Amino acid sequence: MRRWNGWGDEATIYPLPDSAARYLADLVGDGPRLEDVSLAQAVAAVGTSRLSAHPLLSSDPEDRLRHARGQSLPDWVALRSGRIETFPDGVAYPTSDEDVRALLDYARKVGAKVIPYGGGTSVVGHVNPVPGEAPILTMDLSRMNRLLEFDETSRLAIFEAGVAGPEIEKQLNARGYTLGHFPQSFELSTLGGWIVTRSSGQQSYHYGRIENLFAGGHIETPIGGMDLPAHPASAAGPDLKQILLGSEGRMGVVTRAVVRVRRVPVREKFLGYFFHDWESGTAAVRAIVQAGLKVSMLRMSNAMETATTLALAGKENLIRTADRGLRLLRYGDGRSLLVMGITDETGNDNIWQGTKGEAGHIIRTHGGLPTGTTIGRMWKKSRFYAPYLRNTLWEAGYSLDTLETAVPWSQVAATAGEAQKAIRAGLADPSTGSGQASGERVLVFAHLSHVYNDGASIYITYLYRRANDPDETLRRWHVLKDAASRVILAHGGTISHQHGVGADHAPYLAAEKGPLGMRALEALRGTFDPDCMLNPGKLLEK
Ligand SMILES: Cc1cc2nc3c(=O)[nH]c(=O)nc-3n(C[C@H](O)[C@H](O)[C@H](O)COP(=O)(O)OP(=O)(O)OC[C@H]3O[C@@H](n4cnc5c(N)ncnc54)[C@H](O)[C@@H]3O)c2cc1C
Repeated sequence: MRRWNGWGDEATIYPLPDSAARYLADLVGDGPRLEDVSLAQAVAAVGTSRLSAHPLLSSDPEDRLRHARGQSLPDWVALRSGRIETFPDGVAYPTSDEDVRALLDYARKVGAKVIPYGGGTSVVGHVNPVPGEAPILTMDLSRMNRLLEFDETSRLAIFEAGVAGPEIEKQLNARGYTLGHFPQSFELSTLGGWIVTRSSGQQSYHYGRIENLFAGGHIETPIGGMDLPAHPASAAGPDLKQILLGSEGRMGVVTRAVVRVRRVPVREKFLGYFFHDWESGTAAVRAIVQAGLKVSMLRMSNAMETATTLALAGKENLIRTADRGLRLLRYGDGRSLLVMGITDETGNDNIWQGTKGEAGHIIRTHGGLPTGTTIGRMWKKSRFYAPYLRNTLWEAGYSLDTLETAVPWSQVAATAGEAQKAIRAGLADPSTGSGQASGERVLVFAHLSHVYNDGASIYITYLYRRANDPDETLRRWHVLKDAASRVILAHGGTISHQHGVGADHAPYLAAEKGPLGMRALEALRGTFDPDCMLNPGKLLEK
């Protein structure tokens, strides 16, 4: 059963080793043990539905609660404290284009707003109902989850858009293929959600971001349906797929998508390397990318992330022994870990050995120390398990959140450094807030998560203590988020490399797009949804 107020399956627990608890207490202080509201208490707070009955609609209070929020930190605060302002008035589960059309027609007739809902894994407030007079209908697409066609010759597959990551891979793997789109939320997020948030999987360097994988499809809008033909390439004017990508449920409901698939790799390895510091590791990563080497992933953690990852894994004795060995080799406090993936679909030994050899050479010339496959295997094993730690940390009294951007290589060091500095100091100064946060320490660390010839995305994780008052926990989050977002914009970074805009990033979007850009987006939204029925308040302010 899915957790109603946190990440993932209720039965999966990520325990916090004692040594990890001590590590966090040393860095930010002991977390307070605070009671969360129960499911029964939260359900009891769901009000009467304002929607009239419809055969596709559930107005069950628990259903409405379970669709009221996503996975952002403000969402967690709301769910765990029971302070959920607004609930959808009903949740519909369409199973076909006809159902989606019928629901849009019904919503227009009764004056309802419609929130398309994939896996509800948004971390920026995408699926939250906005308070207002109009009733709210959440359209959960999870029952539209079938593989409709598979064209092996063209390596194209057509899926219904509500299909989640594991089902996509199950269907494709059975035929010897893969989509290769592995966001950390893979377990629950859906194809439609990926497309409209411009998602990026962990091995996007090899497989491509979702915009590279999305070849065409179909959307239903309040004014009618639209097909997006799957051409291998086209010069027939602007690409309408690009309008849908990143549209965040504002321009229509994606009902099916054509995706580009590849053969399941014949071999794959994730290798670990230590560098003396993040700067030399980053330089090596850039050199590998700019040399055009066919690796599949380059995840370059900074020193604090390296230390924290090892500490949270427990295994004190192993870490102590490794620490002694690394120090002897002069990999000291600044040591930073790279996990590099190599993926081979061809079985061609020359390419495999050549890539490994050339990447290894670049790494060694930048002072990198190969450690084999153990660390890489550990990373692979926990790639979708790691988010469960957030549940445990919350219960131990800590709020954990992440943010990300992408900048050109020339801005990577400054942006990463200053954003982390702003977050680290964000709660230290009593004059920046109510005073309750005075002296609070913040643990912050970063890694390069996605790399390109011209730049990289920087993924920052931060952790601070929850306050007794949920509003204060939220206020701390606002202070940190705003401080980091300002640094990102000052460096010309994008406000989102992969999580999208939603409600949380909407105030910062105009700085990136400019007035004319915002007008163009508004006009597009108005074309597809003239009555502003779909997911108001997300991406665009209205
Ligand atoms: C632990 C965790 C790890 C994450 N890791 C990554 C990561 O590695 N990479 C990454 O890119 N993201 C990541 N995310 C963010 C999130 O998973 C993505 O934004 C994902 O694409 C959302 O998909 P979803 O199906 O859950 O969409 P939802 O959260 O349900 O919805 C997101 C938005 O898409 C719209 N929408 C959903 N389906 C449709 C549809 N069929 N038609 C029209 N609109 C639709 C909704 O209205 C909403 O605006 C992570 C999130 C969490 C919680």
